[in-house]
Amino acid sequence: MSDYPHLLAPLDLGHVTLPNRVVMGSMHTGLEDRARDAPKLAAYLAERARGGAGLIVTGGYAPNLEGTLYPGASKLTSRRELARHRVVTSAVHEAGGLIALQLLHAGRYAYTPWCVAPSTVKSPISRFAPRALTARGVRRQIRAFARAARLARRAGYDGVEIMGSEGYLVNQFLAPRTNHRSDRWGGTPENRRRFAVEVVRAVREAAGPDFVLVYRISVLDLVENGQTWDEVVALAREVEAAGASILNLGIGWHEARVPTIVTSVPRAVFTGYAARLGEHVGIPVCATNRINTPEVAEQVLTDGADLVSLARPFLADPGFVRKAAEGRSDEINTCIACNQACLDHTFAKQRASCMVNPRAAYETELVIGRAPARRKVAVVGGGPAGMAAAVTLAERGHDVELLEARDHLGGQFDIAMRIPGKEEFVETIRYFTRRLEVLGVRVRLSTWADADALVAEGFDDVVVATGVEPRLPEIPGVDHPMVMTYAELVRGERTAGQRVAVIGAGGIGVDVCELLTTEHSATTDAEAWRLEWGVGDPAESRGGVRPAVPEPSPREVVLLQRKTSAIGKGLGKTTGWVHRASLRAKGVEQVSGVASYERIDDEGLHITVGPDGERRLVACDTVVLCAGQEPVRTIADDLADRGLTVHVIGGADVAAELDAKRAIRQGTEVAAAI
Ligand code: NAP
Ligand code: SF4
Repeated sequence: MSDYPHLLAPLDLGHVTLPNRVVMGSMHTGLEDRARDAPKLAAYLAERARGGAGLIVTGGYAPNLEGTLYPGASKLTSRRELARHRVVTSAVHEAGGLIALQLLHAGRYAYTPWCVAPSTVKSPISRFAPRALTARGVRRQIRAFARAARLARRAGYDGVEIMGSEGYLVNQFLAPRTNHRSDRWGGTPENRRRFAVEVVRAVREAAGPDFVLVYRISVLDLVENGQTWDEVVALAREVEAAGASILNLGIGWHEARVPTIVTSVPRAVFTGYAARLGEHVGIPVCATNRINTPEVAEQVLTDGADLVSLARPFLADPGFVRKAAEGRSDEINTCIACNQACLDHTFAKQRASCMVNPRAAYETELVIGRAPARRKVAVVGGGPAGMAAAVTLAERGHDVELLEARDHLGGQFDIAMRIPGKEEFVETIRYFTRRLEVLGVRVRLSTWADADALVAEGFDDVVVATGVEPRLPEIPGVDHPMVMTYAELVRGERTAGQRVAVIGAGGIGVDVCELLTTEHSATTDAEAWRLEWGVGDPAESRGGVRPAVPEPSPREVVLLQRKTSAIGKGLGKTTGWVHRASLRAKGVEQVSGVASYERIDDEGLHITVGPDGERRLVACDTVVLCAGQEPVRTIADDLADRGLTVHVIGGADVAAELDAKRAIRQGTEVAAAI
């Protein structure tokens, strides 16, 4: 008996049977846009098919030029484009998978001057105002969806997903927020639904009965003037009648000011809508958002969803389903919902990958083959860079030992996982720890590496991943008892008082503020989290928005930086706004443009601010230093002096702007070349 009977149960859709209940959700990688990237896209998706995804949904393809997200973005509009799609569909089929193409019309979310929408309501996330479609224009969009579905079938896809959520064109027709029309495509709820229903009907007619038609339905718009629950249910029924085979949930428009997928969002917090909607329709309903382990997925299915959609977890681990089926779920590289290498890349028009799996979308480029000769390699330092290097070295057949000075692995992730809202980071430590065990890497904890000993033990190579230490800025009084480093505070070695000054507003300064201002982490308390972010029920308020009621901060916090720019500007595109909103909600005072940190004494932190050097006392009982890091790498020089081949990676290599994405990628790449 499997641990995941629901997850692994096949699903009969009539003309085709899905092998299990796991849909790989749509995730734009950037490889969709250009024909020359088709082989890379094919390799990426085929690896997920081999890993057991029940149905793969591609990134979004526009059905016409007007629907493209940005100039040059992916679309499926003519037979000339079919060849590149066939490369992808054949690779997935050869790997034993099923694949549906997502049809996404951006509407007013397009970053193009030719964007269209139901009405001329400009979106806050594109600088282009849309042109309102004429009635003829509306019919032209429907025909475009039908043509794209026909082409998708000819390209070998097993189905399509119509993107009806997240605030894209179809969703724009559905909500009074963006549909101000008074013709047959707007006004009443029936008229607002007509576009979505006619698109589904036209796609079904064009593609034929033996074709999977997933409709992505926005059950919770999370914007003012979104849909009501009654409207969502009526839509679901009409979409089913028009020919949809599966309803896939969509949560929140892109312009919503509520986080829906970042790591601080509780796992499975939105999945209850699947069972709730399922009561009203006869087709399977697929739950989404923050489902990242087989255990969570199994629970969501037990609670009434028919399918689960996981997108980022397939970037983190292509073998998610296979490992679950083989009883090896503890070997799954879990998506920690950081967005750092996936969505942040997508929004920066870079290829999406994964922080914890740098091979994602680089399957043909970052190849972990067998090493030409087995070498004896020591990895010094058990943070993200060192763990990634040790795993890759062992996968390549080397004889590997990992030495860590502390009594546990994790490095900077051991700090990150203690921040409220970042608890997921523990999963990466769990994954690497298990992987090292499975691969037979000897892990020596509480071991201070010594150059002479490493030479004596006969290592051929040493990878130095000794990481960083907090920078101690040269401020008079920095040795005052009220001063502590972020590492001391976060690890619980020191305790903060009631009035805290935080020096340095990079990622860690902001994280420290989250820690200082949070009494109970809402990540594990769905109701508290809903209250904090104003997430209501669409049955009670349009779009499911209600006033936010954040938990008050237990202490006064002032966050300072010397830069004059807004605090948190350097944070990730998709996560920074969440942190900034959180700082505001918790009443953290933000001081930019500190000219000088003058001194720290019993009164607190004395500073000068602004171009005129205005003096100010930040009265406090605690000062936390978050002023960046310095590399720790003395052993590298000692080893090089003794003639060993040394590879320095991660923060030990470059501490400035160190991030785990670079550390893990560098660890993997260096190990792939030894
Ligand atoms: P950081 O981003 O380099 O920020 C350090 C801050 O300290 C800077 O804002 C700098 O601002 C200030 N600073 C530097 N030297 C100083 C000095 N001598 N005296 C006073 N202030 C000084 O470093 P971090 O916050 O430690 O983060 C390290 C890395 O971890 C980041 O680069 C980031 O990639 C990663 N991280 C990311 C996240 C995330 O949410 N994505 C979270 C945590 C960590 P001023 O010079 O303007 O004062
Ligand atoms: Fe998940 Fe982060 Fe990887 Fe994106 S980069 S897939 S959020 S672990």
